[in-house]
Amino acid sequence: MNLTEIKELIPKCCTVDKIDINKCDKNEKRYLEEFLPSVKSIIVLGHHIKDSREWIWTQMKSDRENCTCIADLHTKDIIKKIKNYIEWEGYNSKIIPYPGISGIRFKKLAMKTTMGEIGDNFLFLHNEWGPWIHLRVLITDIKIKSSQKTYINEVCIHCGKCIKACPVNAINENSFNSQRCKERQEKSNISHSCEICARICPIGETPKKIKSVKVDE
Ligand code: SF4
Ligand code: SF4
Repeated sequence: MNLTEIKELIPKCCTVDKIDINKCDKNEKRYLEEFLPSVKSIIVLGHHIKDSREWIWTQMKSDRENCTCIADLHTKDIIKKIKNYIEWEGYNSKIIPYPGISGIRFKKLAMKTTMGEIGDNFLFLHNEWGPWIHLRVLITDIKIKSSQKTYINEVCIHCGKCIKACPVNAINENSFNSQRCKERQEKSNISHSCEICARICPIGETPKKIKSVKVDE
């Protein structure tokens, strides 16, 4: 199967790339094989977040720790479409649950594609969209071929803005204090978590913030 066949299934707001299983390290391979022992290729789907409302998280039953958002549901629909296509061709595939459940870091996998790299803010930065990308991962036992180059572009310009802006000093030059970030996120409203280090990043176009609307009683 060729990657171009999969590209034809996705809308313009999304991008897709593949990774051969032999590009994964031992641990990644082991985790992925738990989901599909015969895994040969990993498909990484990225959706461009253009509107802040797409990342408003709502508490409801979902495969992502009981909360979801429009981007989450949208990418799930598209990844299911890809899954159906692969299975129609007679191969197996499996949608990988989010990292909190599967233990598989999507951004680390996306680093192995041509999409971008992890920036100093420890977010995945797409070459053009910057941090405004929502990732989903599917694995399959068919080898996906592609003529795309496999080098990783440098996206982060190391401007240091995210390090200065983080209110809890979670970001340092070579390390990320995920506990501090998590605590700060938990303090924020569930509907709109902290996006400071994404909004300050000069890569990509930052979606407009949602203004609170005054409702007359
Ligand atoms: S999301 Fe907020 S708390 Fe977490 S690293 Fe970014 S700025 Fe800091
Ligand atoms: S704010 Fe600057 S240093 Fe931080 S991730 Fe974006 S480009 Fe890199």
